[in-house]
Amino acid sequence: MKKFLALALALTLCLAMVACGSKPADTKTPEPTPSTEPAAEPATEPAAEPTEPAAEPTEPAEEPAAPAEGSNKVGVAMPTKDLQRWNQDGSNMKEQLEAAGYEVDLQYAGNDIQTQVSQVENMISNGCKVLVIASIDGDSMGTVAAQAKEAGIPIIAYDRLIMNTDAISYYATFDNWDVGVKQGEFIVEALDLDNAEGPFNIEYITGDPGDNNINFFFDGAISVLQPYIDAGKLVCPSGQTEKAAVATANWATDAAQSRFENILSSYYADGTQLDAVLASNDSTALGVANALASSYSGEYPVLTGQDCDIASTKNMINGKQSMSIFKDTRDLAAKTVEMVDALMKGSEPPVNDTETYDNGTGVIPSYLCEPKACTVDNYKELLIDSGYYTEDDLK
Ligand code: BGC
Repeated sequence: MKKFLALALALTLCLAMVACGSKPADTKTPEPTPSTEPAAEPATEPAAEPTEPAAEPTEPAEEPAAPAEGSNKVGVAMPTKDLQRWNQDGSNMKEQLEAAGYEVDLQYAGNDIQTQVSQVENMISNGCKVLVIASIDGDSMGTVAAQAKEAGIPIIAYDRLIMNTDAISYYATFDNWDVGVKQGEFIVEALDLDNAEGPFNIEYITGDPGDNNINFFFDGAISVLQPYIDAGKLVCPSGQTEKAAVATANWATDAAQSRFENILSSYYADGTQLDAVLASNDSTALGVANALASSYSGEYPVLTGQDCDIASTKNMINGKQSMSIFKDTRDLAAKTVEMVDALMKGSEPPVNDTETYDNGTGVIPSYLCEPKACTVDNYKELLIDSGYYTEDDLK
């Protein structure tokens, strides 16, 4: 009975928190993401069990497990080498952890969920004392995360939140809601929506449904655009407006391209003007830009993105993408290394947000780095002066 009451209280508290929050407390399709690419670095052992979210996600996250004595090895699990940013994230993490005196087991999983699960299992059995995981599918790590917790190994979710498991100690990311808000604000200004009458035609594209970040990117942007949609200033000729309809498995450029080729040939071939595309990131924006090049001859639309990938930054310079969001992966790695270091030494990891990111078991203490809007006007200052890229990288 006591247990039941405690459970009911925990549930009520969770519901109250969800009801009060303005940001997305909902998660997403629990379907695992289909994998489309071969594993870059195959795991040595097959995954023991099909993964399911850990049971009983009702209580808030407990005190993080303290790492065991002895080894100073840190496991870093990255999703894929195929998308530019994770290569930077992985090498920044390795470099900075090694500089801080840690041994690093860095793995890429070729966007294959089972490969990532096996890699994390190996990190546990190979004596890693802290795990840093950028998940492929946030809902598929529950079983292996529980194994880590059982072994006393804390997990830091890196960039993407790992959902529905109480085995996540900390979350290091960017302010993902703000990413979406900045993209929405850019569209409002570029189309001068406060003054122009419109209506303007807009299409939407976001990323993988297994990535909790899309809820923040997409909903953050829509929170800014909604008043203009309601006023009839923004209309979507394809009618594809729901998150599920505008998602892109694995954030893949070719999938984005073929979806937009279809949209352009079905709804814009008669000369209808496309005014704006809200694309959640650069890999999808690149697909949209490719589709525009092959299947559209009207005036070029406003096109958003995120990450300042080299290909998209070049597109910005050449007028084929209007903006991106600069997320300095060096800063994220530095914060994550501070978290790891604190966990290793038994002190308090840095956090600056204890409200926003509920993974279904409670709010995960987070550190949110600051995203910055980047355009052709400030890319030199943000990307080149800061040493993120050289001039030659962007030629
Ligand atoms: C990251 C984005 C990235 C996307 C695809 C998201 O989880 O936050 O920066 O563009 O994954 O890699």
